[in-house]
Amino acid sequence: MQVQSALLFESPEQIYARVFRELRPRTPMPTFVIHYRRFANANSFIRMRDGIIEARITDVLQGAPAPIQEALAWILLAKLFRREIPPAASDRYRRWMNRSDVRRHLHLLRQSRGRKYISGPQGQHHNLDTLFEELNQRFFHGLMGRPELGWSRTVSRRLLGHFDPSHNAIIISRVFDSPSVPRLALEYVMFHEMLHLQHPVDHSGARRCVHTRDFRAAEKQFPQLKEAKAILKTL
Ligand SMILES: [Zn+2]
Repeated sequence: MQVQSALLFESPEQIYARVFRELRPRTPMPTFVIHYRRFANANSFIRMRDGIIEARITDVLQGAPAPIQEALAWILLAKLFRREIPPAASDRYRRWMNRSDVRRHLHLLRQSRGRKYISGPQGQHHNLDTLFEELNQRFFHGLMGRPELGWSRTVSRRLLGHFDPSHNAIIISRVFDSPSVPRLALEYVMFHEMLHLQHPVDHSGARRCVHTRDFRAAEKQFPQLKEAKAILKTL
């Protein structure tokens, strides 16, 4: 039994070589260099130079079971050679990353390794702390703990707001910090992000559903929801 398990063990380089052989049966075998790096997130990178394929993999994956390492090898090598990623590989990888213990690990890493720029709540025209407390009273009986609040660095029209659970922060686009944008739109975006504090993301299965049915129902409490959404469309 001892011998058998020793034979079954593959190093990361061997896993990549085997996947490479399946993707490129006739190409001479390159050298593989696999590093595990301390990233602040789950990113991994791959590149080929002078006959060497180098993969830099997040150290979150270092203790992952071999089938997960192999799934990532398929994903990275398929990307490198512009092939379609086998759905089974991306599905297996995504399911593993979505596991609660893996997510908790990543969450802690982001907190300890990632630095995040958060501006203060005071903008040119609006104060986000004031707005938060006003909405807290109106919709949440004043019971919601205030997270860090800040304005985005750029005037983003694409990402209007987001809640970052790792830093317990709500970031609002600076596009709203202007007298020409009705305050109603800002109120709605802040309310929406506050709902994200209240409704945790549903991580069951491979897909993340951020706006659950409960979330949508709670959002309907906002009066003038239609008017607010109409303003967002004009930005
Ligand atoms: Zn949302």
